[in-house]
Amino acid sequence: KVINFAPGPAKIPEEVLKKAQEELVDFGGTGVSVMELSHRSADFAKVINEAEQNLRQLLNIPDNYKVLFMQGGGTGQFASVPLNLMKEGGCADYVVTGSWSAKAAIEAEKFGTVNRVIPKTKKYSGIPNFSEWNLNPEASYVYICANETIHGVEYHDIPDTKGVPLVCDMSSNILSKEIDVSKFGLIYAGAQKNVGCAGVTIVIVREDLIGNARSYCPIVMDYKVTAGMNSLYNTPPTYSIYIMGMVFQWIVSKGGAKAMSERSALKASKVYNVIDNSDGFYVAPVCKKDRSRMNVPFRIGSENGDDELEKKFLKEAGERKFMHLKGHRSVGGIRASLYNAVSVEETEQLVDFMKQFQQKYRK
Ligand code: PLP
Repeated sequence: KVINFAPGPAKIPEEVLKKAQEELVDFGGTGVSVMELSHRSADFAKVINEAEQNLRQLLNIPDNYKVLFMQGGGTGQFASVPLNLMKEGGCADYVVTGSWSAKAAIEAEKFGTVNRVIPKTKKYSGIPNFSEWNLNPEASYVYICANETIHGVEYHDIPDTKGVPLVCDMSSNILSKEIDVSKFGLIYAGAQKNVGCAGVTIVIVREDLIGNARSYCPIVMDYKVTAGMNSLYNTPPTYSIYIMGMVFQWIVSKGGAKAMSERSALKASKVYNVIDNSDGFYVAPVCKKDRSRMNVPFRIGSENGDDELEKKFLKEAGERKFMHLKGHRSVGGIRASLYNAVSVEETEQLVDFMKQFQQKYRK
């Protein structure tokens, strides 16, 4: 059986896929597929409203926050955030800790001044202490990426931005732990890693930050319009919302964000333990305090990786049907993505393989 360690689009719980399969041609006795339903029908209203209610419950979202289901992925939000939140002629603070926050900063520069508040590093291997951030009190917001999917750098604490709204890309760790939403001005996340399939992007935004979009902000990117129309200004990605809603139900049934947090910590610790006890056979590039529980990148043989060993690792992993363990093309090496749908047992199988591989090839 295949075990999918993909970085995204990623594994979806099998129970969810089976239910989707069962309902594919006849959703809840409607006689049609969810994807054939009008987005303005009562049947679809139930799907989208339940998805929102479950998300609100799972993350304990306060009433003064709107939940939006948008399109354009994480990349769409790189533009939507400044278009809606950055004051005309103003600036925003960006904490660049990996490729995704770097891309977001470049996109935001189209709309105003971007302050990069931590020093540029050659390698992304951690997050400088919050006290070293050069924050600007005039900034419209402070932008962070909660989990850098490519580099495996994750925040384990929320920075205090002294009243400046904190904007956070949670595309690759949403619902993998409990969070205090009230500490954020805006949270967004593409669904295709921890909560479903590609096509829908969650935006959770504090109400007072809505309503100041630039005059030229495309209407599908305008938070006020989207909020005012319950995410139904135009045709939303109905099928992706349906799948995401079922993933939310699955998380509820497993014990919610708290249970996901415990599972995630356990899975990641199992993989990092093998790395840390391998006498340098496996090398994790990220400093311990900022290691991601979601994406575990590592090299084999040395800090820069032994090409031959890494190829063998991927080949032998493939023979065991462990899929998508190759590191991102920009960094190389290996990356194991351990999103919510990856079970502890599946992680243990990877861990066993890593130990055996080391036995076989260590010098
Ligand atoms: N932000 C993070 C943390 C990501 O991992 C990704 C994609 O992998 C993106 C943003 C970009 O998302 P999208 O491909 O949905 O535009």
